[in-house]
Amino acid sequence: MSVLAFNAGSSTIKYSLFAGGSMELVAGETLEDPPANAVEKILAAISARVASDPVAAVGHRVVHGGRHFRESVRIDDRVLGLIGSLTKLAPLHNPPALRTIVAARRALPGAPHVAVFDTAFFAELPPDRHVYPLPYEWYENPGIRRYGFHGISHAYCSARAAEFLGRPPAGFRAVVCHLGNGCSATAALDGKPVATTMGFTPMEGLMMGTRAGSVDAGILFYAMERMGLTRMELFDILQRKSGLLGVSGVSSDFREVRAAAEAGNGRARLALAIYSHSVRAAVGSLAVALGGVDALVFTAGVGENSAELREEVCRGLECLSLRLDPVRNRSLRPDADLAADGPGGRILALRTREDLHIAREAMRGL
Ligand code: ADP
Repeated sequence: MSVLAFNAGSSTIKYSLFAGGSMELVAGETLEDPPANAVEKILAAISARVASDPVAAVGHRVVHGGRHFRESVRIDDRVLGLIGSLTKLAPLHNPPALRTIVAARRALPGAPHVAVFDTAFFAELPPDRHVYPLPYEWYENPGIRRYGFHGISHAYCSARAAEFLGRPPAGFRAVVCHLGNGCSATAALDGKPVATTMGFTPMEGLMMGTRAGSVDAGILFYAMERMGLTRMELFDILQRKSGLLGVSGVSSDFREVRAAAEAGNGRARLALAIYSHSVRAAVGSLAVALGGVDALVFTAGVGENSAELREEVCRGLECLSLRLDPVRNRSLRPDADLAADGPGGRILALRTREDLHIAREAMRGL
């Protein structure tokens, strides 16, 4: 039997097919700008393999589970309706996931379909970490709280860090920095989240490719009232024209900003300096939330690949007993321990495996 994992984003669909027993990856692909019949095309591409090894379960990544979903859930019509009702909280992400689920259920009606939520990992954030210092009534209704995102990656990486180091999960303190186009950082103890940087939406926290991350809310009023920006213009700026792109004026892509900085572009250099400070400051805050760090994890496109960024972030973290080995940092590929020998916390580069986590969750209910 095999397990299929779908990850439908705002402009891509990724799929991964695993051999159910060994969880070995046997097929996978990312479709950019997927057509309406993307799921049918994917199933046609894997039909020969699946004929001899039928799909026993299908996992679907769903970004927002709101207050309804605190863990992965088998999808039925009621669940589908609830995911649809959360579209207002995740207008870019939940609709493509919904379309993929509907098409996949139609094509594979015999297999259980399981929704795996990016928010679910954070359902257990303690109240003093998820209630905003706003009027309490807003928390009660309509439910404004810190939901947290990238939970599939954070859950996978915090567990993988303990496994990689051969430590039992109990008492293990991990700070995971997921640095891709979107960026977030999470503190986890015993494999459970203690604090995270993203909030009610994925706009809060670290500086990102095109998103500002946390900014003074007063600036938003100033921009609307004094600079005459409309609500939609402001949203567009915060969501698509800020972050690395906004400061550098070059690109939202970390590699391109780095190349420009190396060529002497001052704004690109400034953007990178703000970016690394934003991550370093979050690591400090999350380390304090845990009372110390057993493993600092770098993951996703930037975290896994940019030795320079890791070096920059770790400059100043010696006070937390986190010491990077510069040679290991430059020469080792994920999954790897990049810390200097000695008694301090470990510094890991881990390849995030959201597909594997989704597939494991889909298998759990079998
Ligand atoms: P997403 O959040 O869309 O899944 P990724 O995790 O793929 O994104 O991360 C994309 C980011 O990773 C981009 O900013 C890209 O420049 C950066 N990146 C990818 N490869 C490298 C590399 N070799 N060195 C530095 N940055 C990289």
